[in-house]
Amino acid sequence: MTTFVDTDLASIAGPVLTPADPAFADEVAGFNAAIRPSPSLVVGATTTGDVAAAVRFAARTGRRVAVQATGHGLVDALDGTVLVSTRRMAGVAIDRAERTARVQAGATWRQVIDAAAPHGLAPLNGSSSGVGVVGYTTGGGLGPMARRFGFAADHVRRFTIVTADGVARDVDERCDPDLFWAVRGGKANLGIVTGIEFGLLPVARFYGGGVFFAADAAAAVLHGWRAWAPTLPDDASTSVALLQLPPDPALPEPLRGRSVVHLRFCHLGTPDEGERLLAPMRALAPALLDAVAEMPYAAIDAVHMDPTTPMPVRDRGITLATLPTEAVDALLAQTGPDAGSPLTMVELRLLGGAIAREPLSPNAVSGRHAAFSVYALGVLAGPTATAVPQRADALAAALQPWAAGEGLVNLLGPADAELVARQWGSRDRDRLRRIARRYDPAGLFAANVPLPA
Ligand SMILES: Cc1cc2nc3c(=O)[nH]c(=O)nc-3n(C[C@H](O)[C@H](O)[C@H](O)COP(=O)(O)OP(=O)(O)OC[C@H]3O[C@@H](n4cnc5c(N)ncnc54)[C@H](O)[C@@H]3O)c2cc1C
Repeated sequence: MTTFVDTDLASIAGPVLTPADPAFADEVAGFNAAIRPSPSLVVGATTTGDVAAAVRFAARTGRRVAVQATGHGLVDALDGTVLVSTRRMAGVAIDRAERTARVQAGATWRQVIDAAAPHGLAPLNGSSSGVGVVGYTTGGGLGPMARRFGFAADHVRRFTIVTADGVARDVDERCDPDLFWAVRGGKANLGIVTGIEFGLLPVARFYGGGVFFAADAAAAVLHGWRAWAPTLPDDASTSVALLQLPPDPALPEPLRGRSVVHLRFCHLGTPDEGERLLAPMRALAPALLDAVAEMPYAAIDAVHMDPTTPMPVRDRGITLATLPTEAVDALLAQTGPDAGSPLTMVELRLLGGAIAREPLSPNAVSGRHAAFSVYALGVLAGPTATAVPQRADALAAALQPWAAGEGLVNLLGPADAELVARQWGSRDRDRLRRIARRYDPAGLFAANVPLPA
């Protein structure tokens, strides 16, 4: 490991690695294997003090600062930055009486789920429990219980953040309300969060999982879902995805190497009620596999069945204000079974319910009033790799007539500052910019969702 004489770097307890260090490549690798990060330096932070020292060093030496926990949100190579890797800061403490979790910057949702479950409590994680808590929550955080409880960011009580001046601040509704508002939705544009406290929900079990249909039922299932999903109560969340699955022996046999339609469902009422609600969708076509059942909350990954190993991918998301028949037809024309689409997944999520309700403590989360989210992803491998970005963008363009005014920054994909700016309504965007300028006047932080100056 390189030895540094710089006072700030020498004070860091965790490893500080340059590209010449053998451990550098593993330290910077993210979940998207298409991107090889190339920061000038990576700091394996172990404390808030380490993070503050890294920020001070970067500011003093004219470099930008990026932050990474799991690398699930990696969208560019972070060239020349000082990268703060938070994965060593993975502490999770549950307060059963208060129904809260206090977690460090590098914790994943799996760690929180497993710590909360013995108390009959659950967090508002997303589709994959391998995702990092802070990266997800600072982007809103839309999960399988969101229609009942809202975004993960809506439940944040306080956090500790290192701002561009290298100062660690404890922030909540009363102490620095502007920063508290902005970080909940503003990603890393305001600083590096080192710890976060949020409310947990009294959910021990759910009725849900996935039903898989053959690709030739795609039109029937998507049109059926379009009419059915908005009739659901807030206790139910659902999405539906067109998937092109690899011949992976880890997949259940009926799904291996097939194009399928994956209906996802998560219901927090009684299993009988969940079964009754799901019945119209089950009746649409014969299932290749029906894996919906009552489960402990710890099995929540069964709803989306997201991949858990890194892959080279390109993604693109947009939100819709409405989903008429014509929009489903447009989606099928671009990415349906007869479209020769190179995309591995095209997902429609139902929004609404508590997602659309302003939380008690308002925040900078965008996309709250959209009705549906569309998220497309392609694997950048094999003969169709080069066609992936173009088709993902073509899908977004084809759905523009029904686009909502705001988007979901967590599910946006690589975007320039102009596209990022369009994810917020003008009032929130201007407020976010003003607060970002106040706390980071020189634009030190290189967030994966970059706010325009
Ligand atoms: C398989 C998969 C499933 C997903 N499912 C969902 C989902 O269901 N719902 C949803 O809302 N999103 C989802 N996402 C998107 C995910 O929430 C974002 O990509 C999120 O940024 C990932 O955070 P991370 O820490 O795991 O990733 P990282 O790549 O480590 O971080 C990504 C970004 O988060 C910010 N960030 C990370 N740590 C900090 C910090 N300490 N302080 C300030 N900012 C920080 C930074 O901007 C950073 O660039 C999914 C992504 C993947 C790959």
